[in-house]
Amino acid sequence: MGAWPRRGDMCICVDCHWVDRCQAYHAVERQHGVSHLSDQPDFRPRQPRIHVQVRDLDAGGVGVEWDVRACLDFQAEPGHWLRLRPGQLLPA
Ligand code: SF4
Repeated sequence: MGAWPRRGDMCICVDCHWVDRCQAYHAVERQHGVSHLSDQPDFRPRQPRIHVQVRDLDAGGVGVEWDVRACLDFQAEPGHWLRLRPGQLLPA
């Protein structure tokens, strides 16, 4: 399992209006092995571009990071993910 996408890694979904309804973001959550914001996302985005990166882990081995870097349906809602998960840090 890789690290969760961070702002610095340019996963744009955390600041998107659709993050808790989005099927593409749901797939990113699955790849990272974390709990879903929604069990049944109903929004299918147009042409999300997912950046996949294989990297070395501090503990050894390799991990895979998935980050959405561009999307035709991105709708800015800064801090949306953080409001849905109050008190939690964006995992790094
Ligand atoms: S940016 Fe695109 S893929 Fe990410 S949550 Fe928004 S609609 Fe979904």
